[in-house]
Amino acid sequence: MRQLKRPKYNPLDVFLLCVGEVVEDDARSNYLENHHQIANSVVEFDAATSGKNWFGLPRVGRGHPEVVIRGTLTKGALVDLYGKYLVGGEAAREIYDELLVSSDGRCPFCGGIGQVHTVDHYLPKSSFPVYSVLPDNLIPCCRDCNTGKMASFATTQKDQTLHPYLDAPSFFSERWVGAMVCRTDPIAVEFTCSPPDEWSDIDKMRAQAHFDQYNLANRYRIQAGAELARVIDLRKKSLRILTSEQFAAYLDENAESDAYDINGWNRTMYWALARAEWFQTADFSEPASYLEPALVA
Ligand SMILES: [Zn+2]
Repeated sequence: MRQLKRPKYNPLDVFLLCVGEVVEDDARSNYLENHHQIANSVVEFDAATSGKNWFGLPRVGRGHPEVVIRGTLTKGALVDLYGKYLVGGEAAREIYDELLVSSDGRCPFCGGIGQVHTVDHYLPKSSFPVYSVLPDNLIPCCRDCNTGKMASFATTQKDQTLHPYLDAPSFFSERWVGAMVCRTDPIAVEFTCSPPDEWSDIDKMRAQAHFDQYNLANRYRIQAGAELARVIDLRKKSLRILTSEQFAAYLDENAESDAYDINGWNRTMYWALARAEWFQTADFSEPASYLEPALVA
């Protein structure tokens, strides 16, 4: 979970840039005549950002592109702003491309697992079509996070996932993902959502919603499995000369590396390994020496 700089574009400029791509005169005039509707919708979005209650913004049902959403703008016309003119346009496309590279290729939602593949609508355009080209609503995202999340947006504040541009820095700078190293064969790492006690109940529940919606327990466990096998292999070979204290320091160094997200799978895994004393003293060529007694045949 990485915090990203809020896009610098003016929302109305982006809207007008997209409208500038519209070839048909009638359609273009219709967009232009409704520009104040778009301005109003941005004011409402900003108010929701202040209260972190985007879920309360007006939403529309599935399908029905002919439904009028604002002024004389239909749902279909608003959704087209994104697909046909922002993604499919020429001048407007440059904004899409800049958003895509704004996180250095790393997905901000899944703690460093995925590479950015697309732009995700924080508020889905099918339910919130008026925000289809609002820069604050467009976030670079990996394929798994984009396809794995539910198409509908939260209907309560506590179920809202984290917003990389707009949420409080504490979500991105404080540790709220925990992990436990399991004395199983093979050794496994289990991840949990464990926010600091002093966080508000809403923030704790939102962290949990993010953790669940992006399936992080499962995705982290899979990533950690491969890395853990590598660490154990190193410990049996080149790291064999380290004392358990030196090995613990090595693990701790990885846990503190700013190269990774503080709540990413890799830092969290090393954080847990650096706190598992049995792991630092284990003789990995003798599984019986560190497995849970019940697992030793
Ligand atoms: Zn992702």
